[in-house]
Amino acid sequence: MTSALLVDSHGRTLRDLRVSVTDRCNFRCLYCLPETEAAQNFYRGRWATQPESKPIAWQWQPKSKILTFEEIERVVRLAVNLGIQKIRLTGGEPLLRQNLEQLVARIAALPGVTDLALTSNGFLFPQKGAALRAAGLQRISFSLDSLDPANFKRITGRDGLAEVLASIRLARELGMHPVKVNAVIIRGLNDHEIEALAEFARAEDLPLRFIEFMPLDSAHSWQKELVMPGREILARLQARHALVPALRVNQSETARRWTFADGRGELGLISPVSEPFCGHCNRLRLTADGKIRTCLFSVTEHDLRTRLRSAATDDELSAYLQSVVWQKEDRHHIGEPEFAQPERSMSCIGG
Ligand code: SAM
Ligand code: SF4
Repeated sequence: MTSALLVDSHGRTLRDLRVSVTDRCNFRCLYCLPETEAAQNFYRGRWATQPESKPIAWQWQPKSKILTFEEIERVVRLAVNLGIQKIRLTGGEPLLRQNLEQLVARIAALPGVTDLALTSNGFLFPQKGAALRAAGLQRISFSLDSLDPANFKRITGRDGLAEVLASIRLARELGMHPVKVNAVIIRGLNDHEIEALAEFARAEDLPLRFIEFMPLDSAHSWQKELVMPGREILARLQARHALVPALRVNQSETARRWTFADGRGELGLISPVSEPFCGHCNRLRLTADGKIRTCLFSVTEHDLRTRLRSAATDDELSAYLQSVVWQKEDRHHIGEPEFAQPERSMSCIGG
C-alpha cells in the first residue's frame, strides 16, 4: 500500500465518506427503528412465525462517545487528503445535532471537498435551513416515503408530512441544488404510492430515488418478500410514462436514473438487494461514535475513536484508515445462507 489514496484489496478507490453526526432520531421509521405500534402490527400481521415483539438491538450512545466537531473535522481532513471528495452528513437525524451549521462551515472550508451534502427526514429543516445554507451546504436529500398523511405517520411514527413538504420547498427557495427525495418502498406498505410519488417528482421537477428495503432495521424484521425490486417499480412506471435512460455520470453511481420525456423531474432506482452494485462501491462510513464501517452490511466496525482520543498523529491515523479500507468487503451477502444482518440499524450506521 504505497499510494496516498484509500484503496481496497479489490482495486476500488474510495471517494465518498458518509459521516453520521448522531445516532438519535425524532422519527421511528418502520424500516429503520420499528418501535411503534404500527410497525409491530405491520410485521406481526405478516409474519406469524416471528416472536410477538423482538428485542431492540440498539440504545442511544452516551454523549461522551459521540465524536466532537473537532474530531469529525480532523477525520474528514485526513480522508480528503487520502482522496475522498464527497462528504455526506447523515444520522440518525442530523438536524438533531446542535449547531450542525458549525460543522458544515468547517467541512465546507476544507480544500479538496468538492461535494458536501446532507440527508435528513426534513422535520426540523424549516428551523435550520437558512443557517445550513449560509454555512455552505449545497445539496440536500429528504426522505419522503408517502404523500398520504396517514400512511406517512404509519411509516415514520410522526405526523410530519406537511413539514417535510415545506422543507423541500424551502430548500429550493434557499438555492440548494440539487434537492433530492428518497423513498424506501415496502411491499404492502407504500408500494401503492409509487405512481403518486413519481407524479410528485414530475410536478415539482425534482430527482426522486426509489430505494429497496435493506436488512438494516433495528428489530431485524426485514423479509425478502417485503422488498419491491427496482425492476418491478420501473415496469410500473414505464406502464404510465415514456422514460428515457439518463447517462451515468460515473460507475459508482448507485441509482439507475431515468428522465421523463419532457425533461421535468428525474427518477432513480437504487436496488442494492436485487441488483447489487458492490463492485463499484466507493463509500466509507464514519459512525457518530467514531467507528469506521467499510460496508453498510459490515459485521465488524473499526474503532477510530479510541485512536483519535489517544495521542495518535495524523500520519498514524491516515495509515490506520488505509489499513481499514484495504479490508473492505468485496460485496454483501444478502439472500445467501451465510448472510448475517449487522447488529446496528441504519440509524446507527448512517445511511
Ligand atoms: N434521518 C435521515 C433520513 O431519514 O433521511 C438520515 C438518516 S437515514 C438512516 C438515511 C437514509 O436511509 C434514508 O433515506 C432512509 O430512508 C434510508 N433507510 C433507513 N433504513 C433503511 C432500510 N432498512 N432500507 C433502505 N433504506 C433505509
Ligand atoms: Fe427514519 Fe432516518 Fe430516523 Fe431512520 S434515521 S428512523 S430513516 S428518519
